[in-house]
Amino acid sequence: MAENDLNRVLSSHGIRPTLQRIAVYKYLLSHPVHPSADTIYRSLSDEFPVFSRTTIYNTLNSLVKSGLVRPINIQHDEQRFDSTTEDHGHFFCIKCNEISDFDITQKILDDLCPEGYQNIRVDIFITGFCPKCKDKQ
Ligand SMILES: [Zn+2]
Ligand SMILES: [Zn+2]
Repeated sequence: MAENDLNRVLSSHGIRPTLQRIAVYKYLLSHPVHPSADTIYRSLSDEFPVFSRTTIYNTLNSLVKSGLVRPINIQHDEQRFDSTTEDHGHFFCIKCNEISDFDITQKILDDLCPEGYQNIRVDIFITGFCPKCKDKQ
């Protein structure tokens, strides 16, 4: 996504497109591996030495609040972030810590949601071993 488009997307979600917001959002779009705040901080610190850890945390907070980024809370000690905001499932590998996406069909959502309730947002995750780690047990 070009810088202009990023500016527009951020503005249309009600947040001012600052340098750090653009950089963090761009990073998430180009690294769809569900990075943690720390990973983002370390990856951006070469290019933007002025960004502190706190800057990154605050920036992620604004992006989450605006609805552009989704937080993933699978591990109790480390939140991860996703620029794909449509409902989808996550598979967390307990060996390599990778988080992969899987699709959740409308049918599955309808079947899971109790009758009489209306779902707004769905967080589904499975924990286990990814194909790479499964055979190394
Ligand atoms: Zn794995
Ligand atoms: Zn995801």
